[in-house]
Amino acid sequence: MATLSGKTALVTGSTSGIGLAIARGLAAQGANIMLNGMGDPAAIEAERSGLAKEFGVEVLFNGADLTKPDQIAALITEIDTKLGGVDILVNNAGIQHVSPIEDFPPEKWNAIIGLNLTASFHTTRLTFAAMKAKKWGRIVNIASAHALVASPFKSAYVAAKHGLLGFTRTIALEGAEHGITCNAICPGYVKTPLVEKQIPDTAKARGMTEAEVIKTVILAAQPTGEFVTVEDITALAMFLCSDAGKSINGAPLSIDGGWTAQ
Ligand code: NAD
Repeated sequence: MATLSGKTALVTGSTSGIGLAIARGLAAQGANIMLNGMGDPAAIEAERSGLAKEFGVEVLFNGADLTKPDQIAALITEIDTKLGGVDILVNNAGIQHVSPIEDFPPEKWNAIIGLNLTASFHTTRLTFAAMKAKKWGRIVNIASAHALVASPFKSAYVAAKHGLLGFTRTIALEGAEHGITCNAICPGYVKTPLVEKQIPDTAKARGMTEAEVIKTVILAAQPTGEFVTVEDITALAMFLCSDAGKSINGAPLSIDGGWTAQ
């Protein structure tokens, strides 16, 4: 029997990149999945039905905009009703904006704090009581190396991710006696649409070409000189969700090729 058979996982922002890979990993372990995120409806439906067929689990999709608390509440209610509540919560949805502080648009600040930090507060507060009642839960927050260190021109993102790590530690303490763990995975650069989209803006902010940004900003941060892969992150998330991960709680888990060791 698959390890997570009978469990239900909500992976926010799972129509792309890291979230999609983690959703796939959890489905492969036998968990039922609620997918969430934006994107082309036909592509999302193909992904949803493909996962369900390949792994023989229930896979649903809810396109809640997680900057909207009422849509988050409706998302959790749908999971409670159709999949028996959330056992594994992966707070992954995130956006980025790169700009010097004097030009940083306030609406981008609000959107980043709303999605990268506040949405995790709402998903957690709405699922925590049920995890406590079941005496088992796993909360995996996809933070960033930017939860631990800063880079210029990413004020909102760095603030949100540092905040998410503080939130992670608090929830770890609140869940510790109830069989619930809460950890923050802190990846370095992963080649997903989120990173691909910021290359032109970083080039503009730093007065560089895009090729120079990849070489001297992105990969220069990582002593391995290589991108972290979505498979690396998925494997770590699977460990945290396994029984072997039960004593890892409140930890920032760097997976960054050595970036934050410097
Ligand atoms: P991505 O752009 O590939 O995926 C982001 C996901 O969030 C997509 O599914 C998107 O539809 C969803 N999303 C965007 N706005 C949303 C909204 N308002 N409501 C609901 N869903 C929304 O990015 P990714 O690189 O896979 O990023 C996933 C997480 O990993 C983010 O939190 C990001 O900060 C973090 N992270 C990424 C990297 C990296 O280098 N790619 C590094 C460290 C941390």
